[in-house]
Amino acid sequence: MRRSYLAVMILLTFALAISGCSKNEPSGKQEDVSVSENYFIFDTVVSVRVYDERVTKEHFDDIKKLLENINETMNRLEKDSEVSLINHQAGKQAVVVSPETYLVIKTAKQYAELSEGHFDPTVGPLVDLWAIGNGGTAKPEASLIEKEKQLIDYHKLTLDDDKLAVKLEEAGMTLDLGAIAKGYAADVIAEYLQEHDFKSAIIDLGGNILAMGSKPGGAAWAIGIQSPEEKRGAHLGTIPVINKTVVTSGVYERYFIENGEVYHHVLDPYTGYPSWNGLASVTIVTDVSMDADAMSTAVFVMGLEKGMEFVESIDYAEAIFVTEDKKVYVSSGLKDIFKLVHKEYTLAN
Ligand code: ADP
Ligand code: MG
Repeated sequence: MRRSYLAVMILLTFALAISGCSKNEPSGKQEDVSVSENYFIFDTVVSVRVYDERVTKEHFDDIKKLLENINETMNRLEKDSEVSLINHQAGKQAVVVSPETYLVIKTAKQYAELSEGHFDPTVGPLVDLWAIGNGGTAKPEASLIEKEKQLIDYHKLTLDDDKLAVKLEEAGMTLDLGAIAKGYAADVIAEYLQEHDFKSAIIDLGGNILAMGSKPGGAAWAIGIQSPEEKRGAHLGTIPVINKTVVTSGVYERYFIENGEVYHHVLDPYTGYPSWNGLASVTIVTDVSMDADAMSTAVFVMGLEKGMEFVESIDYAEAIFVTEDKKVYVSSGLKDIFKLVHKEYTLAN
């Protein structure tokens, strides 16, 4: 190591210690140096690792502000968010929102239409009733589930593209962007990094991954697909990607158990219950993380057969389905590149 380089390294390490970032130099080669920062937002750990030593505390602070802004506008649990305003005005009047919030709501409605309501951003009343991951510990009364289910209908989410106005047509309806906002946030972080001339980064929002660019040097990233039954970080397989996002919805994230039955946080708007169809997880691979996030929820609720058909009909998306009996099904575009590494799972197609 040259002396000047060593001095820079020492200074950098010192600066990073102050900022709370962590630095990694796995191979000892300068080109593989990465710096990362963690945030806790949207009830999730967000980690941003940039493979470039020019990244500074200011960049990570900017990213923090971007994340906070998304939370403050789109989280319905923040009482003054734009989404909360829309929910307060349900059945009364339309609310004009920021272009960013409008884009996410419009995209959510498009995926509701494409998936025929398996993904539905008006699922809020059912999410509140079940409260899974938010204090819920028991199955609600069937009559209450039936009652709240009547309020779920994306057709009654009215959008005005000229005014950027959003209205829920019935009192009691609530918008919930929980299944799409994290994907949007990953896209926003990637856009920020690109604007600042960074080429290689891994953005991870609680397992929703955006792999920006390639590894330094041009090689593909090997992205691990989470094994649904194990702790975060245990992988059942990997796929090589360059500039792609890899987003998983599964039963293992937020759930409670009652009488041996697992109740997880992805709800089937058709039944009002957590979606039970034999799937343990669905991973979607696309270019845009917002699309992958919406689609992973949609396809998880659709189930293997319908979901695979849906993915194959969309040319920009690929998918990996994992069933409860540990079979793995991959869409046509991933067949040649998905690598199964976990011996308890078998490739089924
Ligand atoms: P995660 O947040 O764990 O990544 P998802 O992207 O699948 O998982 O989002 C799940 C969240 O989306 C739930 O916590 C809830 O707020 C909301 N949600 C649950 N079921 C649906 C659904 N069918 N359509 C749209 N949003 C949903
Ligand atoms: Mg999702």
